[in-house]
Amino acid sequence: MKYGVYIHIPFCKGKCSYCSFYSIPVPTPHGEANALFDSYLRALLGDIASHKEFHGVSVDTVYFGGGTPTLFGHHRILTVLSALKSFFRITPDAEISIECNPSDLAENVLLPLVEAGINRVTVGIQTFHEHLRRRIGRIPAAPTESQLEQFMRIFEIVHGIDIMCGIPDATEKELARDIETVTSLKPEHISVYLLTVESNTPLAKTVFNDDSFLEFQRQQLEFAMDMLSHKGYVHYEISNYCLSGYHSRHNMKYWTFHPYLGFGAGAHGFTGLVRYYNTQKVEEYIQFQQYQKDVRSQRAAMAEFLMTGLRLIEGFSEVNFEETFHTKLPDSIVVCLNELVRENLLRCWHEGNTRRYCLTREGICISDYVIYRCVEPLL
Ligand code: SF4
Repeated sequence: MKYGVYIHIPFCKGKCSYCSFYSIPVPTPHGEANALFDSYLRALLGDIASHKEFHGVSVDTVYFGGGTPTLFGHHRILTVLSALKSFFRITPDAEISIECNPSDLAENVLLPLVEAGINRVTVGIQTFHEHLRRRIGRIPAAPTESQLEQFMRIFEIVHGIDIMCGIPDATEKELARDIETVTSLKPEHISVYLLTVESNTPLAKTVFNDDSFLEFQRQQLEFAMDMLSHKGYVHYEISNYCLSGYHSRHNMKYWTFHPYLGFGAGAHGFTGLVRYYNTQKVEEYIQFQQYQKDVRSQRAAMAEFLMTGLRLIEGFSEVNFEETFHTKLPDSIVVCLNELVRENLLRCWHEGNTRRYCLTREGICISDYVIYRCVEPLL
């Protein structure tokens, strides 16, 4: 069995007002930031070294996420990578990804990472329109044309670009222009996230999450789906599109219930029925990298399997479920699935002796609701 490894780098230049991820602003005096990064690096290396039970396993995906991992400095990222190489068997074809902000698109930032084996770089743009960036309090600036050109010139990597739809006040024309700009670059991978207004964020104070806003978001999502498919991108997960063969192998592990290890503040790992959580607070993490173990009940694990499997456009099959849990889909779940099929929110078809379920286009637009109804009997 091959594992994925997730490394969390929880630092950002500031806090965007829609963001509910755990990240802390980097201290402004350069020296203070470097001291914090060095302490965090020591903690990460200690964390990786302490997980002896996994040392020696095969790892075929590594993902540096955040926060803004590139803020951490390429020499620290390289130190983490070489620690991973010394404790795990990183396969020669491993997918090694990093997230970055537009300001990091310069060749002098990316090339040392690429030379060290990073082969997939994703840049979070969200939108090119300044007034929409201000509307959601997006702190990193939009990339310039020359930054994007430099990024696309690095041939050895898979290029990923993240954009956002459903931003309050955005018009269809503005969304179309964002998608047009991104697709004209021909990145191998595009993520389109529907803006979620989380109640614990500053953005929630300025947006009414009422029916008309939800309808506006649904229209934006459908528009993005149609335009990207027209541009030749394969829609393979609710928020993810790629040119054929360039899906994120690391993220697929989350959606297909495969194991992964997580290192860093707030990171978690997953090994079947057991999930490991690390403390979220950076200061606590620097002092003790102790994981809490959360042993999932069979029901909770089944709910998780369905929640993640239905995120994929190809959905899940009964046989995958049976192979994972050595039992058939519970009757209570089959009843819910069939109800949702009748309501045209799920599609079901036969594949040999087994059945496969996936979201319909209508279901994708209200996926949280549909997925909740599927798993409700297990909660
Ligand atoms: S850069 Fe990304 S992770 Fe950092 S605050 Fe903004 S949205 Fe959140």
